[in-house]
Amino acid sequence: PHPRCAGLNVLAIDCAGPRTLPLLPGLPDEAFEHDGQLTKRDVRAGSLARLAPAPGELLWDVGAGAGSVAIEWCRAHPANRAVAIESRPERAARIQRNAARLGVPDLRVVTGTAPEALADLPAPDAVFVGGGVGGPGLLERCWAALGPGGRLVANAVTLEGERALAAAYAEHGGELIRLAVEHAAPLGGYTGWTPARTVTQWSRSR
Ligand code: SAH
Repeated sequence: PHPRCAGLNVLAIDCAGPRTLPLLPGLPDEAFEHDGQLTKRDVRAGSLARLAPAPGELLWDVGAGAGSVAIEWCRAHPANRAVAIESRPERAARIQRNAARLGVPDLRVVTGTAPEALADLPAPDAVFVGGGVGGPGLLERCWAALGPGGRLVANAVTLEGERALAAAYAEHGGELIRLAVEHAAPLGGYTGWTPARTVTQWSRSR
């Protein structure tokens, strides 16, 4: 097995029985220890598609939560690197645990609040903003950190965050989408659709 899969028979996926975890995003949500603040599987896969990791590139995962985006970025290729920036210390510790368990122990975790916490970081090839999207100056600071070919992807589930993304789209263009995922689940003896929170996503490339 690939070194990043070795010994990771932690999940039973579909009916195939226990197997090693794939390197292609997105992993099942259960692959991560989390407190509910997690970019869910289908939205995570869509976000990483636009972050578009190439071998050896560096990601900033701003507002990293459980670290799932940074971890999947790193798992995509052995040379990939990421910095996870998270303001809450208990979540920062959880990111480090998830990274170790999922085969990317070198993931760097910075406990601090963006944009201030971004000050001394090496320049990224891509930036994911999964938290604090509406904060003053954050999107601008992340965009300014990118060089030619760089990608910015920002997700929001609040009206305040969505407003910031709509304003950025109006000013700069790029791509603005909404991701609405529904899961079939039991409903009074039948089966009905249970919607997850719709995610608004703005992305832009240099
Ligand atoms: N993409 C993550 C989920 C992000 S939840 C995952 O899949 O695991 C958003 C996170 O952003 C929360 O943990 C919150 O504490 C953090 N956050 C919000 N504003 C922030 C800021 N300005 N700087 C750093 N972290 C921030």
